[in-house]
Amino acid sequence: MEQRRIIQILRHGVPDETACVRGWVRTKRELKQFSFVEVNDGSSLANLQVVLDPELPDYDTLVKCLNTGASVEVSGTLVESPAKGQRIELKATTVTVCGEVDSETYPLQKKRHSFEFLRTIAHLRSRTNTLGAVFRVRNAASDAIHRFFQERGFLWIHTPILTASDCEGAGELLSVTHFDLADVPRTEAQAVDYSRDFFGKPAYLTVSGQLEAEVMAMAFGNVYTFGPTFRAENSNTSRHLAEFWMIEPEMAFCDLAGDMDLAEDFLKYLFNAVLEACPEDMEFFNQRIDKGVLERAENILRHDFERVSYTEAIELLEKADRTFEFPVEWGVDLQSEHERYLAEELLGKPLIVYNYPRNIKAFYMRLNDDEKTVAAMDVLVPKIGEIIGGSQREERLDVLERRIRESGLNREDYWWYLDLRRYGSVSHAGFGLGFERLVQFVTGMANIRDVIPFPRAPLTIDF
Ligand code: ATP
Ligand code: MN
Repeated sequence: MEQRRIIQILRHGVPDETACVRGWVRTKRELKQFSFVEVNDGSSLANLQVVLDPELPDYDTLVKCLNTGASVEVSGTLVESPAKGQRIELKATTVTVCGEVDSETYPLQKKRHSFEFLRTIAHLRSRTNTLGAVFRVRNAASDAIHRFFQERGFLWIHTPILTASDCEGAGELLSVTHFDLADVPRTEAQAVDYSRDFFGKPAYLTVSGQLEAEVMAMAFGNVYTFGPTFRAENSNTSRHLAEFWMIEPEMAFCDLAGDMDLAEDFLKYLFNAVLEACPEDMEFFNQRIDKGVLERAENILRHDFERVSYTEAIELLEKADRTFEFPVEWGVDLQSEHERYLAEELLGKPLIVYNYPRNIKAFYMRLNDDEKTVAAMDVLVPKIGEIIGGSQREERLDVLERRIRESGLNREDYWWYLDLRRYGSVSHAGFGLGFERLVQFVTGMANIRDVIPFPRAPLTIDF
């Protein structure tokens, strides 16, 4: 008998067809004439209702074993469902319990569990409605990301996870070493002797694939990365992970305006794709997690993103009739409260802030003619704040060398990066998008730890 996914049966199954499904029991109801078992195989939010007739062989033992969490294989015939809210159900002819469950100890009981509790059972939480929906949306978004770039001729490149360069000089690096930490080799001056470590120099987990993406853009024009990045974030926030996935497109022969256009097209494409691929899951988020999810999605699709310069954004914040925890003046970095005020309260839709003060941005961002700002842009969205950070890169050798010096970085470490400006340099631009922030934004999930299967954060690395 043909083995089918439950989503396919719920959408396309017709009465009298035979079908075989495999999955896990969500609930069981024993009635006098029949028993009902809801089976879920992860393909959809909705379960398939299986009807068990007492005529089935070993009916009593069977029903006893069909506890929440048990894995089953069921064959039977599809019948029209008299129950409300479902079109079709499966009348079982054979039921095999593959793996039983001790219902005394199974942690996922029928009641609602808090997300905090579910994080302590990350090995089982994907069997809940919410986490199931999250990971289906995450999958649909990953697929859409590749389609978006592939349709536009971008080359998917794989940048290294282990690196010797710290990209922005941001102090959030996680070190990688092969030393026996109880006996670290020292130089005569008692400094750590990295020349004897695995790579012969300090090594880290990457915080961004951007510099390497620039290398590849200088050969292929348009490229993108989609891979894990690591930051030793010491703050416990609902928007930061120590390991997260980043999407980083990089485009040669492109300026900041082209970069902003790509970011906007990209977000629109993604929302559209997720709404198409996961309508039930999105409806679920809208009902149960965050009532604004569908409205925000529509909002993204229908409206152009507002574009305001950093200087204008500061003026808007200064005019706001409210006090911020972090005071606003030209030159400060925008805090989450500022970003959310602009996106959520003032405009009620995404906006792109561009031309930031050079002092709060990375050395590789292109210096504007005013010498005070750089061609950087952040996409800010309601509820989350910054979701994308990007820039036009400094393509002029002399300016870049000066900026590296001013940032206190080591010119020698960037010799290959500087070479790109020596040999066939061209204006280019790109951005970085935190994938989990995007999934949070799409689903309305409050905590970033609930949109990645196995979150890594301070003191959190079980599973
Ligand atoms: P934030 O100010 O929120 O810490 P950032 O300025 O450090 O962000 P970038 O260095 O521009 O962020 O990184 C690019 C994108 O990666 C961000 O726009 C965000 O979506 C995402 N991001 C950054 N840090 C994290 C993190 N610790 N966990 C998850 N996503 C992150
Ligand atoms: Mn950060």
